[in-house]
Amino acid sequence: MQFTDLKLNKPILKAVSEKNYTEPTAIQKKAIPLILEKKDVIASAQTGTGKTAAFALPILQLLFDKQDSGKKGKKIRALIVSPTRELALQIQENFNTYGKYTNLKSSVVYGGTSIEPQIETLSKGVDVLIATPGRLLDLHKQECVRLNQVETLVLDEADLMLDMGFIDDVKKINRLCPKTKQVLLFSATMPAKIDELALDVLKDPAIVKI
Ligand code: AMP
Repeated sequence: MQFTDLKLNKPILKAVSEKNYTEPTAIQKKAIPLILEKKDVIASAQTGTGKTAAFALPILQLLFDKQDSGKKGKKIRALIVSPTRELALQIQENFNTYGKYTNLKSSVVYGGTSIEPQIETLSKGVDVLIATPGRLLDLHKQECVRLNQVETLVLDEADLMLDMGFIDDVKKINRLCPKTKQVLLFSATMPAKIDELALDVLKDPAIVKI
């Protein structure tokens, strides 16, 4: 299977072809079609499997295909929640790379650093926000971020988020987003606590294992 078989559109395929990937990885082959169908997905995949592109490519495509022609400015339409700053930065790098031929804008916010520049960036509007849970909720409390237009929510490295004690934050973030959103949960391991979270957050999810 080639990337061209995955029904990705031109701007995204062009960015992928510049990466010189020979073919989609196993997780990409399975997850991309489901995400493009707007299914909720639970995927067990470790770092290094190409899991970031497995969600970034179809999310960019969904956002690119359905763009608001209005002049009201950008709003957060995809939200990626990540347990750590390092992972959040990597995810944003992926969105920048794969989205370079779209006009979609991504930003990243995380704790342990000054909040002011993040507020400034958010005020200009972003389509895709990558965030660590605590800082995202801080920004929400300060009314610097609106999640009521989120179409796709990704919980990345969900097992690590639970280990780090973010379960209540993640549930809160879920409730701040519209009920109708698509939810994608990625986790290296699938302990019972993940099933519990999935029951709370996902609707009739497709399960992807590699
Ligand atoms: P991740 O699992 O998302 O951390 O990705 C691990 C690495 O695999 C990253 O450096 C990606 O650039 C790379 N990668 C993602 N998809 C592919 C692919 N289809 N072929 C080769 N490398 C890839």
